[in-house]
Amino acid sequence: MKYCLDCDWHLNAATEPSQHARSQAAINHYVETGHTIDSSESIVRPATPNLAGELFVRDLVPSSD
Ligand SMILES: [Zn+2]
Repeated sequence: MKYCLDCDWHLNAATEPSQHARSQAAINHYVETGHTIDSSESIVRPATPNLAGELFVRDLVPSSD
């Protein structure tokens, strides 16, 4: 997926199946906003600063009990 380090913008294969279109959209976002785009093989953002992200990460970590 492509995602923005400066705002909530992101695109993954679920929302945009074409990798070329995702790349073009990322470039457009950079040109329009000057934001920094990063990419990841993951379907979700590596770090999501909201509650849903924390819950998602917790789901991936093996329970200790
Ligand atoms: Zn942005």
